[in-house]
Amino acid sequence: MADCVPICGKISVNLLITQDLFFNLSHGTGVAIYRFKYLKQQFYGNVTMEASALKEREDQIHRTGEKPFEIVCDKDSLAGAVSQRACVFCGSRVVLYPIADALHLVHGPIGCAVYTWDIRGALSSGPELHRLSFSTDLQELDVIFGGEKKLENALNELIDRHHPKAAFVYSTCIVGIIGDDLEAVCRRVTAEKNIPVIPVQSEGFKGNKRSGYKAACDAMFRLIGTGDISDISKHSINILGDFNLAGEIWMIRDYFKRMGIEVVANITGDGRIGDIQRSHGAALNVVQCSGATMDLANMMEDKYGIPSMRVSYFGIEDMSEALYDVARFFKDPEIMARASQIIKEEVARIYPELQKYKKALSGKKAAIYVGGSFKAFSLVKAFRLIGMDVVMVGSQTGTEEDYQELAEITDPGTIIVDDSNPLELTSFLKEKEVDIFVGGVKERPIAYKLGVGFCDHNHERKEALAGFEGMINFAREVYSSVMSPVWKFVPRKS
Ligand code: SF4
Repeated sequence: MADCVPICGKISVNLLITQDLFFNLSHGTGVAIYRFKYLKQQFYGNVTMEASALKEREDQIHRTGEKPFEIVCDKDSLAGAVSQRACVFCGSRVVLYPIADALHLVHGPIGCAVYTWDIRGALSSGPELHRLSFSTDLQELDVIFGGEKKLENALNELIDRHHPKAAFVYSTCIVGIIGDDLEAVCRRVTAEKNIPVIPVQSEGFKGNKRSGYKAACDAMFRLIGTGDISDISKHSINILGDFNLAGEIWMIRDYFKRMGIEVVANITGDGRIGDIQRSHGAALNVVQCSGATMDLANMMEDKYGIPSMRVSYFGIEDMSEALYDVARFFKDPEIMARASQIIKEEVARIYPELQKYKKALSGKKAAIYVGGSFKAFSLVKAFRLIGMDVVMVGSQTGTEEDYQELAEITDPGTIIVDDSNPLELTSFLKEKEVDIFVGGVKERPIAYKLGVGFCDHNHERKEALAGFEGMINFAREVYSSVMSPVWKFVPRKS
């Protein structure tokens, strides 16, 4: 982070930022990153920043068609580059957070818990224990003498008070440094309280966000295989990698229900411990956010022989393909006929309105920067459906295969970028003169500062963007943002 501070040569501002960083580092690096960005924006807001890729990052950027495909990815972020990516702990939190009847206890300084408090807009149809962010609030004395006693006391008190179905205990950077034995504490509390108490080995510094996904999958895998599966239908699935933002998993479950398919477990949107414990009884794992939950699907295949398929629920094309793929798997003509009927009805319902947006948006340019690359594929197709050109696409956690596939489906000259940062993104948006930027909460200010429209496709959104209904919501939101009269008063920076 510090490397970026002197860019504009504002010494006094740098000092303030440095002091703030120093203060916040003792309270969680994640918080420091946010405050750094906030301060930088406050002080540099009106200054045009010359931004380009750092030399060490050039091999993480590819321009479609300019040379044979090659990209470096899935590696630790470059120190000082102010990556948009989060830490290992945060990766595990985003996956496990939506399990609504579990206790989520962050063992670490309070900053780690605040950083991930209510981190997703994941809705629950029942309990809402997940929305509370509990922390052991480790202090200096705990760091010196160890925090195990404090952790055990916190678990006992919280379990007595909230009666969760299970508890997840997250390890943070400092716990990895002082070496508290989470396994031993969790084992003791499991025996005493008679519920699964599971350590999540997610020390923030030990890798990148993808390692956090793996830590979450390892934790959930300990639950699977412990529930009764005697009454599960042979036409059954688990939904992996949908987090029920704005109620999306309820729409997806409804499609499968109309097809005559039983959904055993949502992993993890609107998730329940009991469902996850019996998820090994499903015939198929349907995996959307494959970066986050494919490890779990692979482990279930190895141990229980459950096959998996990758899908996406974003955009008409991918949503339809997801329903057809699942129907094909069961080789049942009735299920296939129901899938066709649903798709026919839903597309007929939204198509006329989509055409209206396409007429207005044709030829406009979009840039995409999202957490997982599965979403990027669907977004490229969804933008094409409404006549728009995607000129930049990137993700925090894509693999080489993902980026290669993106290079194959995008137009010549499209920028493909892995693990980017605000300065790079700024320069790409300016270079390509985009009309709308799609990303998450950390990308929003980048777009607005440049006078560019923005569409939130991440944790915090309140609008369902998955499914057929989601496609029309997406088109409507893009239309409203790109065509808004506000841009007449906020000149676009170039
Ligand atoms: S685990 Fe480490 S990197 Fe992650 S928020 Fe906590 S202190 Fe920061």
